[in-house]
Amino acid sequence: MFSTTKSSDKTIKLDFSEGYSSVIIPSKNNKFTLCISSQIGCPIGCKFCRSGNQKFIRNLTTKEIIEQVRISNDLLKKENKDHSITSVVFMGMGEPMLNINNVLNSINIINKEFHIPFRRITLSTIGIDLDKLLSAKFNIAISLHSPNEEIRQEITNSLTSINNILDFCKEFSKNRKNQNGVMIEYALIKDINDSDEDLNPLLNLDWPSNTNFNLIEFNDYKEFQASDKSKLNYFKKKIINAGFKCFIRESRGKDIDAACGMLNVNL
Ligand code: SF4
Repeated sequence: MFSTTKSSDKTIKLDFSEGYSSVIIPSKNNKFTLCISSQIGCPIGCKFCRSGNQKFIRNLTTKEIIEQVRISNDLLKKENKDHSITSVVFMGMGEPMLNINNVLNSINIINKEFHIPFRRITLSTIGIDLDKLLSAKFNIAISLHSPNEEIRQEITNSLTSINNILDFCKEFSKNRKNQNGVMIEYALIKDINDSDEDLNPLLNLDWPSNTNFNLIEFNDYKEFQASDKSKLNYFKKKIINAGFKCFIRESRGKDIDAACGMLNVNL
């Protein structure tokens, strides 16, 4: 059982009665990204994320993960028979690496049965068990959020060191010579990680040249507030000037609580 809500920006949120959600994000040229959940709640508990501030219930089964894709495809096809999900991101509720067997099974099924190429499937992690992802054919995104070890640990609870993340990025990029390397995700939070004192050390880290950066437009939560848009543009310009690909992930579905970090356990 599930219910749907549509945002003014055409983003669609699916709330499943078991407590998890998926989000369909339309973009230009009839492309549709599906953001899916791998757990109900999230045990990581990043301080700035609603999913992480709620009780963790359980891992999703492979079937439950796959059903998010099938149901979303059916919904889109009802509106227009030529529409379907064109890319899948594991960026919804939960930390995929804590449910890795079901997530890997799901990725293979999404690729084979829904004909979504691995290059259009992305697993986003806070940085757990990265070694297991070294030979992944799909994309890897790592939530960094700060180049400062103390700040990162404080806001994300992650125990993975930034050096471990860098080592992984280097190894991973060796297997992907002419492709994108790891995507580094960075949500800009006012007065926490959005100054030159954050940006300069970020750029001074020894990233492989095919690393790409994804700056996330943050959604206010508790004491954490979004940085000004000008800061996002400033970070983007500096990162591109340093020779890396960088894009800003604009907030979508904010009016229906479907944007990044806004998913609730719906029970
Ligand atoms: S940001 Fe991701 S890893 Fe952190 S609590 Fe939220 S869902 Fe979990």
